[in-house]
Amino acid sequence: MQIKFALLKSKVAKRIFFLFVIAAVIPTGIFSVLSYNYVTSLLTKQKQEHLVSSSKSYGMAIYERILNAEQQFLKLHESLKFSNDVDISSSTSTRITLDSNMSLFSDIKIYRKPENLDSTDLKHLLDGKSTITAVKNSNNIIEIFFIRMFNTIEANHLLSAKTNLQYISGDMDIFAGADDACIVIKNYGTLNCSSSHLYTISKSIFEKHVNNENTIKTLNINNKNHTTASWELFLNGRFNTNSWIIYYIEPSEIIFAPKKAFTKILLPAFLLAILIVTLISLNQITKFLVPLEKLLVATKRIAKSDFNEKVDITSNDEFQLLGDSFNHMTSELSKREERLFYQANFDDLTGLPNRQQLIKRLQNSITDSIHEKKQFAFLFVDLDRFKVINDSQGHAIGDKLLIAAGDRIKSCIRSTDTLARYGGDEFGVILSTINNSNNASITAAEIIKRLAEIFYIDNYEQIIGASIGISVFPSDGNTWEELLQKADIAMYKAKQKGRGRYLFFTDTMQENIREKAELEADLFHALERQELYLVYQPQIDIASGDISGAETLLRWNHRNKGHIRPDRFISYAEDSGLIVQLGSWAIREAIKQCEKWQIEHQALPKLAVNISARQLRHENFFANIEALVSDFDIGTTILEFEITESLFLSDDKHTMRMLDQLNKLGISIAIDDFGKGYSSLGYLKRLPAQTLKIDKYFIKDLNSDKDSIAIVKAIIAMAKVLNKNVVAEGIETIEQLNILKDLGCKHAQGFYISKPKIASEFLDYSKTAVIQLDKRRSSFKNVS
Ligand code: C2E
Ligand code: CA
Ligand code: CA
Repeated sequence: MQIKFALLKSKVAKRIFFLFVIAAVIPTGIFSVLSYNYVTSLLTKQKQEHLVSSSKSYGMAIYERILNAEQQFLKLHESLKFSNDVDISSSTSTRITLDSNMSLFSDIKIYRKPENLDSTDLKHLLDGKSTITAVKNSNNIIEIFFIRMFNTIEANHLLSAKTNLQYISGDMDIFAGADDACIVIKNYGTLNCSSSHLYTISKSIFEKHVNNENTIKTLNINNKNHTTASWELFLNGRFNTNSWIIYYIEPSEIIFAPKKAFTKILLPAFLLAILIVTLISLNQITKFLVPLEKLLVATKRIAKSDFNEKVDITSNDEFQLLGDSFNHMTSELSKREERLFYQANFDDLTGLPNRQQLIKRLQNSITDSIHEKKQFAFLFVDLDRFKVINDSQGHAIGDKLLIAAGDRIKSCIRSTDTLARYGGDEFGVILSTINNSNNASITAAEIIKRLAEIFYIDNYEQIIGASIGISVFPSDGNTWEELLQKADIAMYKAKQKGRGRYLFFTDTMQENIREKAELEADLFHALERQELYLVYQPQIDIASGDISGAETLLRWNHRNKGHIRPDRFISYAEDSGLIVQLGSWAIREAIKQCEKWQIEHQALPKLAVNISARQLRHENFFANIEALVSDFDIGTTILEFEITESLFLSDDKHTMRMLDQLNKLGISIAIDDFGKGYSSLGYLKRLPAQTLKIDKYFIKDLNSDKDSIAIVKAIIAMAKVLNKNVVAEGIETIEQLNILKDLGCKHAQGFYISKPKIASEFLDYSKTAVIQLDKRRSSFKNVS
């Protein structure tokens, strides 16, 4: 029997054990007590009855001997009656000496009947019966005499003979056996005892306790308990004498010996029963608890997501069934866990490790690299132009493109490196061991080269590209957060620098980022601090030199840093989302100014306001504009919204609908920085835009670069066909203006005409604008 005692610490084990023992102890205990009482009383009773029957049978034996002795006495009487030797007439008493063979009697006497004879005695004797008389001799020893009428005619003589006590009581030792016995003559004294020391006991106890009943008593003799049984031999009827009481005595310990013996057996038997029950219960507990413990251990394992081991229970009972179901459940859980693990750590689309997993592997790489004192590089890869393709050609194409891009990046790295999809069109690469930064450069260049190659997705060509930011452990940081952040900063810089390139993180980048964060925070308060204001740059009709409109441009005069360039703070505002607020403030300011000029009879034909993509996509944009224009009374047709060309390329239905709605409201649309993008003719035709603003990039080299002339010429021709207005911006010289005039461009804007001015100065200028322009023209002509 194998018992694990450690198991007994369990509460269940204690309970089962306790119940088992209770279940065993109570019935066994009750049974033991009952049987003890029953058996011991039975044994005691048997012993006592034996004592009683012994005293009785001894009494009967004595009686038989008395009868026998009486017979002999009768014979003696007969023999004396006819003997010639006896002459009773002469004397009152005659002693007769018998032959030796008559040893039963001694002291035989024939004597004259005493006058004072008791009447009952006399009657008994006259009836011809014998009496027995006990007489104490000079030594105080009781002697027994048979007496009867000596048969003469006068009937005045008695025959008496002392009876041999030895004969009557027999050999008491033999009779009583192991017991002690005494014969007590009721109300007279002790006749005989089986041993001499009993005489004193008999005298002091039995003679006083004598009663008629055959009883059992416990008496204290010599400070020891003794059990006595007595039996009364009635002699009154036949022999007209007191009863003889036969006492049997035995030490109580002998009477109780069987009881003691039984007790000796019972207690070990009881303990044995308890022991057996204990062992059985322990065995059962082991049988219950070993599988239970196995299940418990297994449950703890599962709680720690360890599904490797199975529960092994072969008890061929419900526990085994439970174990089997448990194993089944474990394997199901294990599968689910695997699925969950996959979902939590891998990207569904590409099957690559996801952001979570990338972070874990970065952490591992850090630990390994610290341990092995080596460096590793992290590459943050961001696809260029992916957003445009995904938005314009649908997500199905976008998904396939991402998978293919992932495959290409993988082909550039080693199996020991990690490629993960960080999110959207961003990938992360861990180059596990690098000797120097050159290793990372080579891989980054290779990735950029591979991603710049044409992709064929569903038989269509797709061109993307990638920008990569690189951080190196340990020089760029000790934590995954730092490495990620710095690679991200470097990637952002690479994009800013014109995409399709990789950059290592440098501290100046960090500095820029910090500065950006500071400016973003300051920009948040710029409105309330009244650091923002608008400037207006006129646009003229080239032919007449008249002002045809103005573009509003936002300015920020930072309280500590002075003027911040708009392209800089506006990109920050776009990143942080603050542009929505700033933009709407700018529109309101522009409209307010419009209204003011109208009231002052200085109305402009057109006022252009720049709108950023993020602003336009904001859900409340249109409602905002509607509310704004209804607050003022300017007539919406004066407003023109300038939106950059790249925004149209996304072909976003929402944007198109929005532009339509603006048109319906009376607001016209200008495509800003036109020519930089890739707008096709068919596409342009559909656009709800009325004006194209030729980007200053093409104006810059107009007088030296033939290509620029050709492009501007083509744009002007195209606009004519599509019936759109053209504004050339960035005019800095009279040559540029003249060329544009020759090419048929209607409107112009630029420093040559006027720098952007605050509202009050703009008015001053506009009054003299045409004159100034004419002056300049003539001066130019004079020089040429
Ligand atoms: P943009 O819309 O292309 O604005 C024209 C920019 O060209 C202005 O720069 C203007 O000062 C500048 N410019 C005008 N004439 C000449 C010239 O002859 N030569 C040269 N080199 N530049 C000339 P600015 O004011 O620095 O604005 C930069 C950009 O910031 C703007 O480009 C526009 O995209 C954005 N921006 C300015 N104000 C706002 C605004 O209120 N809202 C939004 N969303 N964007 C604005
Ligand atoms: Ca503009
Ligand atoms: Ca522009």
